[in-house]
Order: sequence, then C-alpha cells, then structure tokens
Amino acid sequence: MEEQQKEKLFNQKESGWNHVDEDKKEKILKLSREYMEFLNKAKTEREFIEQARKLADANGYRDIIEFESLKPGDKIYFVNRDKSMYLAIIGEKNIEEGMHIIGSHIDSPRLDLKPNPLCEDTGFAYLKTHYYGGVKKYQWTTIPLSMHGVIVKANGEKIKVDIGEDENDPIFTITDLLPHLAQEQMEKKLKNGVEGENLKILIGNIPLQDKNISEKVKLNILNILNQKYGITESDFVSSEIELVPAFRARSLGLDQSMIAAYGQDDKVCAYTSLVAMMELESVKNTAICILTDKEEIGSMGNTGMESHMFDFFISEILNKLQINRPNLLDKVFCFSKMLSSDVTAAFDPVYAQVSDQSNAAFLGKGIALEKYSGVRGKSGGSDANAEYVAWVRNVLEKNKIQYQVGELGKVDIGGGGTIAYILANKGADVIDCGVPVLSMHAPYEVTSKYDVYSAYETYKAFWKE
Ligand code: MN
Ligand code: MN
Repeated sequence: MEEQQKEKLFNQKESGWNHVDEDKKEKILKLSREYMEFLNKAKTEREFIEQARKLADANGYRDIIEFESLKPGDKIYFVNRDKSMYLAIIGEKNIEEGMHIIGSHIDSPRLDLKPNPLCEDTGFAYLKTHYYGGVKKYQWTTIPLSMHGVIVKANGEKIKVDIGEDENDPIFTITDLLPHLAQEQMEKKLKNGVEGENLKILIGNIPLQDKNISEKVKLNILNILNQKYGITESDFVSSEIELVPAFRARSLGLDQSMIAAYGQDDKVCAYTSLVAMMELESVKNTAICILTDKEEIGSMGNTGMESHMFDFFISEILNKLQINRPNLLDKVFCFSKMLSSDVTAAFDPVYAQVSDQSNAAFLGKGIALEKYSGVRGKSGGSDANAEYVAWVRNVLEKNKIQYQVGELGKVDIGGGGTIAYILANKGADVIDCGVPVLSMHAPYEVTSKYDVYSAYETYKAFWKE
C-alpha cells in the first residue's frame, strides 16, 4: 500500500534498462552501432557535415537553392561553408504558427594548428597547436592523435587532409615527462602541469640527407608534404587542421551498455536528431534541424549559432513559401518551440562531491532536461518557462519516453551554457535537453546506449507533435 503510494507521489527515476525488452534492446543496439560507425567517419565539423549531407541526399532532401517555391512535405537543407547545416521539412500548418526546432552543435574540443605551425627543435619536427574549447590540457598528451582538415591554396584549390584514422596511417602524439623527472611538474596545479605552448605535435625525426643546411628534419617534413599535397609552408596560413584523438568509437563495458568515443559532445545529439529527421515523412509544424559550429568557443562567427545565416535560411523558406512580409521572420521565431539538444554532465560516483544527486542526470535514465543553464546565480543562462516545460513533459510522457531533469553540478560549483539563449532571445520557447555524458570534453567521452536511443525517440516525438 505505502509502496504504491510512494510510486504515485514520488518523482523517482530508475534505470531505463529495467524496462527494456528484447525487441527494444535490439533497436537500442542497432542505433548505437550506426552511431559509432558515423562517429568514426565524422570526427570534425566538416566531416560531420559531409556525412550529414550524404544522408540527407539519400533520404530525399535537396538544397533549398534548387527550389523555386516550397510546399508542405518538401525536404530541404542549407549547408553553410561546409561547417554548419540546417535541414527542414515544411509542415502542413501555416509556418506562422511556429516551427519545431532542434539544435545541436557538431564542433568538439580539439587542438587546432597555429597559423605557422611547423618548427624544428633539437632533431625533432613539431606542429604547434592552439587548443579549441574547454580542455584539460594534460589529457591530450601521450594519446594517439589524427589530423583532419583542409588546406586551401592561394589559387583556391582545396586539399583535404585526413591522416591517422586508417590502420595503415601513422598517428601523432604529444610527449609528456617521465615520472622519474617530473618531480617539479607534479608539484604544480593540475591546470598548469602541461602548458598550452607545450601541446606540440611530434611529427618527425629524420633529417634530410646530403644537405649542408639547418632545420633538416623540418625540411624533410616539408618535402613529404610537398610530394603528398603539393603545398609549401606558406599554405598552412590558409588551412584549418584539427588534431583529434585517433581512438575509434567503441562499445564500453562487459555488458556493452555504454559507448566510449571522442566528440560525443555534441555529436550524440546531432546524430540522433539527424537520424530522427530522416525518418519523418510529414509534420504538422515545420520541422527544423540545426547542426551548428563554434558552440565550444561561444557560438560566434558566421558558422556559429549567433550568425545571421540561420535567419537567412528561414527567410528563404518564407520567400519560397511566397508569404514573406515585414516582421514575419520575427513572428515565426516568437511562435516557435525549440529543443536545444546538447549533452549534460552525468553524475559520476567517483566525483560525487560536485553534484547534487537529486538534481543530477544519470547515465541510463534517459534524456535529460535542463530547465535552465548559467553559472552561480544562473548568470548568462537561458531559463525555460514552466508552461513550456509542461508542454515538453507532456510530449515525453504521452510517448512513454523516460526522461530525467537535472542541472549541471552543485549551485556554487557548476554551470555552463549552450545555444539555448540564442533562439530564446529571438522569442522562441527553448529548453535544454540532451544525453548525459561522463568525462565530458575529454578525448574519450562516455554515454549510455539507452540514453542515445532515448534522445532519438525524444527528437522524433517532438517533431511529430
Ligand atoms: Mn555541448
Ligand atoms: Mn561542450
């Protein structure tokens, strides 16, 4: 009797795995397998967009530029500078009733090459880096790194770089001091143990022979690069090369319940929303999927969410629906609903002290909603209105999708931001919602396969609403 009363009145969330039958388990494992395969091909924002575009093309989506006019059911996308992308299905309802937007980001913390990266020091050639996003620098030493990106020559020729993922490729690494000689380093604060300037990628050790010149190792590397890509040192100036962990996405745990992979923040939400969108046929409200860049460094720039590129995309939809008029864009945003789908910190028992257990997200308990973000006194945060939280809850509850509600860490400890505020500032109702992650921003991040599936179910239900 009391047991029933407790079940009825308490907000208790148990492990989602408790309610997974064989049929559902198969679906969960299938989606995670496909997700891991996708991650192995999409380690950077450019690679993600390349794969997303292929998927969209294969599912009947076409570039909005190809359309003279639009009608309900049309599936469109817009690729912004190969680094961000917006997809849409035109809804049956008038777009003035608002859109259903899901937005996630596809950039992840990494090491970018400096504009003049190549140097030689005492017989070694190095590439100097500048880290991107919030990293714990010591985590990026002594792991295999792969090199991804583009070099654009002055004549516009674009060369794709992708070294270190194939088994037969070389990898790269950053050295660290042996414990025997690290007494001084070990006394330092963790954040100062490895300095930004010392995140130098080791790339060569063979000097060019028979040459009476200095920097022979560097010259040998430039020779190799010149033969392979036809580039010279100056071409690094107009390149974007990212060093990311060369690890492959793998199933984690003897029970295979989890996924370990680089870049799950926020490719896990990007992938699951993209896949959910590919499976939609018709929708009531126009469905929008945002895959944005630059979230990890503040969403600025023309590929970030702060950019007017997104407004341009929606304006183009309004133009091609032949209904555009002054202020309509504002109206459409003001009536829109959005899930800012970004990962959140999962409760980690090893570091329990940073979280309030009754307001933390747990691995395996489903998609995590965060009513608000921000730091300390919610500073800089985006706060969803109770009415909208209720609307989202209702969608989840009637679709029997298990969810949890939490915040990122203890009041005086935690905090963070997402792209939520950007769309909220335009007038949309927005709530943060995403997959809980362990070791977020580390070279190898951990998620639960149950939660990955829960995210996919959530996004699909939201768009179908
Ligand atoms: Mn994120
Ligand atoms: Mn992040």
